[in-house]
Amino acid sequence: MRITRRLVLPHVFLLQGRGWEAAILKVCVLASGSSGNATFVATERTRVLIDAVLSFRELSKRLASIGEDPERLDAVLITHEHSDHVSGLPVLVKKLKKRRAPVYLTHLTAPAIAWNDCLPDLEAFQAGCRFSIGDLDVDSFTIPHDATDPVAFAFRAGGIKLALVTDLGYIPESIRYNLRGTNLLILESNHDLEMLKVGPYPWPGKQRVRGRNGHLSNDVVSDFIRDDLDSSTATLVLGHLSENNNHPELVRLVAGQALAGRSLATRLVIAEARRPTEVFIL
Ligand SMILES: [Zn+2]
Repeated sequence: MRITRRLVLPHVFLLQGRGWEAAILKVCVLASGSSGNATFVATERTRVLIDAVLSFRELSKRLASIGEDPERLDAVLITHEHSDHVSGLPVLVKKLKKRRAPVYLTHLTAPAIAWNDCLPDLEAFQAGCRFSIGDLDVDSFTIPHDATDPVAFAFRAGGIKLALVTDLGYIPESIRYNLRGTNLLILESNHDLEMLKVGPYPWPGKQRVRGRNGHLSNDVVSDFIRDDLDSSTATLVLGHLSENNNHPELVRLVAGQALAGRSLATRLVIAEARRPTEVFIL
């Protein structure tokens, strides 16, 4: 694994319109759902996109709404090759060619993507590896999902930790360990079991979603909040909601009840496919 552009960590920098404040990370879930996923993470000096489903036009629009620009991205990270995570990637690679922003993904995921005629600058890593992109330290960890070599990511800068974990059939002990000390957690809450049971998916599709390599249900997330959510997690963003088998208000209700059972001041946010979340400044 090549380590690129390691820079000095910023501890204090100027945020537009907010004056001098101690802030390390700027995070926005640009899109989240079974129809598409993309998340923006930045330090003062490094801007990355995790997963690239949006068209370049839509990505530009959503980034502009938070004062950012795809032409300034330093890297794109890919969790796995499913189309709801990579369908915008080939065009994005072409658009970022001049900037030479590499695509970070595992050795096994790279050949599983249809690159069409684009020639990506790849930074392939081994799942489980730690690497750096500028002043952003990245941990990758394997997740149980029916893709070639799927990973989730944790990002650290200046003592702040963000984790992005979607597309997994269950939460193994190793992932619970990786989520300790997370300040902002973006976690999948994909489906309601009852809605899935009576919903429109064919039987094999239902079995896939609820299988060990499928997606997390609201109930599993609720158990995680009750038993394992770290007290350091000030904000919990639940995302990758199924359009057919879930509803944002149901997620809010179930997760809210679980949070109420803990004496934590964790704020709950639901991420959507159609619009970006608020910008989280950490
Ligand atoms: Zn997937």
